[in-house]
Amino acid sequence: MKKQHEFATRAIHAGQEPDPSTGAIMTPIYATSTYVQKSPGKHKGGLAAMATALEVLESGSHIVANDDLYGGTFRLFDKVRRRSANLDFAYIDLTDAEDFERVIKSNTRMVWIETPSNPLLKLIDLEAIAKTAREHEIISVCDNTFATPWIQRPIEAGFDLVIHSATKYLNGHSDLVGGVVVVGENKELGDQIALLQNSVGAIAGPFESFLVMRSLKTLALRMERHCSNAIEIARWLEEQPQVKSVSYPGLKSHPQHDLARQQMRGFGGMVTIVLKADIAGTKRFLENTRLFSLAESLGGVESLINHPVLMTHASVPREQREALGVTDSLVRLSVGVEDVRDLIDDLKTAIEAI
Ligand SMILES: *Cc1c(COP(=O)(O)O)cnc(C)c1O
Repeated sequence: MKKQHEFATRAIHAGQEPDPSTGAIMTPIYATSTYVQKSPGKHKGGLAAMATALEVLESGSHIVANDDLYGGTFRLFDKVRRRSANLDFAYIDLTDAEDFERVIKSNTRMVWIETPSNPLLKLIDLEAIAKTAREHEIISVCDNTFATPWIQRPIEAGFDLVIHSATKYLNGHSDLVGGVVVVGENKELGDQIALLQNSVGAIAGPFESFLVMRSLKTLALRMERHCSNAIEIARWLEEQPQVKSVSYPGLKSHPQHDLARQQMRGFGGMVTIVLKADIAGTKRFLENTRLFSLAESLGGVESLINHPVLMTHASVPREQREALGVTDSLVRLSVGVEDVRDLIDDLKTAIEAI
């Protein structure tokens, strides 16, 4: 039997035959609203991917989610679906997977996790969560945006659904917004998602799909560079006297470094640091990088720097933020694929400005 190709090869060739009518090597896009033949639509747009995944549940279901979720996910859960579908959410720290079993109720139908988490880069044991979910017939969902399928494969660890913000690493060039739902072996769940796609209409436009497919061809190359740049930067930051702590799954100092080695192929491009500075010093640091652009989002080829308290996590109440460890001197880096020596020089200049 022919062995399956490796990741980097599949990224370029899987599901992408030359266009049968013209032989175009790139997947063509057609400016048409109808097709004589059936056309499969696998992608969905933005938070529409998550919204559709939630719609497999009956109203009134209970969902267990980890406590430091992407803000937009929390908003969809708490501000929309709690009201419109009477969904009930438990937000807990799932770094100890045994805590999951303790909060399962008779109406728990889904567990929703992110690993590494944002912005603290805490990890969750994928196999342990999937096993407990299966034992209790709970649908398991992993938002794999931070890791990408190159680094981490939740379906192979037993998960039912994987969600990606294609806006981030999958597309990687900061020029579109899109999302993807991936279904594992569960055919019934796949049919249910397909029915929802057709009924609700969460489908990505052809140009966005074209751009993401083009970008996936270099996902493996980009991720290798994101990972090698990030670990070098994380190690360098750990040695700087102005830096109080560095969170990066690839560092030996990360409390779950062993789990990271087990379930991740690389450790990703996200690095979170706490500076030895007050809010004014932290702002000076943020204002003095040149290559790291001060902006929300992540996962593009260009490096970004973000201050969660003032930017991505501003909507989380201070008390809750601080209980999680998201403080004024915490800074999140999305390490791009530039030359790492330039990136380190850039951070050095910014540290000197503190
Ligand atoms: C950005 C992000 C999303 C939402 O994606 P958009 O494509 O921006 O709507 C979801 N989950 C995670 C972990 C993210 O970082």
